[in-house]
Amino acid sequence: MSFEEIKGQARAIKILQKEIATSSLSGAYLFVGPTGVGKALTALTFTKILNCKSDQLDSCDRCSSCRKIDHLNHPDVRVIIPEEGSIKIEQIRDLKRQTGYKLFEGKKKVWIIKEADKLTLEAANSLLKILEEPPPDTVFILISKTQERLLPTILSRCEIIRFFPLSSEALDSIIADYLPPDSRKADLIKKLARGRVGEVLSLIKDENILKTREVVLDILSKKISLEDIFQWVSKCKDYGTTELERILDIIIFWFGDLLILKQGISRRVVNYDRMEELKSEKETYCYGAIKEAIETVERTKGYLKCNVNQSLALEAMWLKLRQYQGRE
Ligand SMILES: [Zn+2]
Repeated sequence: MSFEEIKGQARAIKILQKEIATSSLSGAYLFVGPTGVGKALTALTFTKILNCKSDQLDSCDRCSSCRKIDHLNHPDVRVIIPEEGSIKIEQIRDLKRQTGYKLFEGKKKVWIIKEADKLTLEAANSLLKILEEPPPDTVFILISKTQERLLPTILSRCEIIRFFPLSSEALDSIIADYLPPDSRKADLIKKLARGRVGEVLSLIKDENILKTREVVLDILSKKISLEDIFQWVSKCKDYGTTELERILDIIIFWFGDLLILKQGISRRVVNYDRMEELKSEKETYCYGAIKEAIETVERTKGYLKCNVNQSLALEAMWLKLRQYQGRE
């Protein structure tokens, strides 16, 4: 993929293209921003441009260099990812050894370090030494969700390029390549994705997401029964954290809608196709109960990330939501 095809990150791309045009590249970059907004894709495309045989401000995607980088088998390009949860000192030592080699065939050696916030302290200190005396013709691209977990000394050696969640218009244009723009699924995807392209693409492929939503909203839109809860939780056993997070977001949108309706606003309702049920459900919750329901679901999302017993956490959540229903 070329810069021209990457959507929604025009600002970051403009900075990088300007640096290529004026030959003012930094030795090290930190691409920082939420997951799934295009950091890794931009890093790979930037790497292709630095080595592309076309000498343009964008990758040609056809030359042997671009193709090798796309397949991650270019001898001058390396991607480092965490092994068993962290980037270890051995991985950085290996990198250090290889920075001593001459260029094999490219114009720049590029090291992409993904999830750089997972560098162990030892590895980070070792990397710092390389960044302090950067080898010639080498560019480091560190990628991270956050910059807080990186050593300030490493940050000071990097040019920080920020990536942001995509605008609604950028998401629309991506979704429009796959779905009719006013479809229920397109709408739900936009809400669930929160500006993350990766999530948009994954949801487009998810054939069950609308059905899942229907099942959850059916439970929420009437008196929540114990039978419904236990049946639903047992069905969720096969779901991974990502799927469950999506479902919990769907529940949060439901309560968000109730909150909005309580305030007498209806134009921002997410589940507008369920307006009649929302209006009737709005009466069964007091204002405080809706807020507590949202907090409960948010908390459960947090628990699911921490390896708790999934079924117990989900049951506890539903039982609380059941309590809030009809509470004065
Ligand atoms: Zn090329």
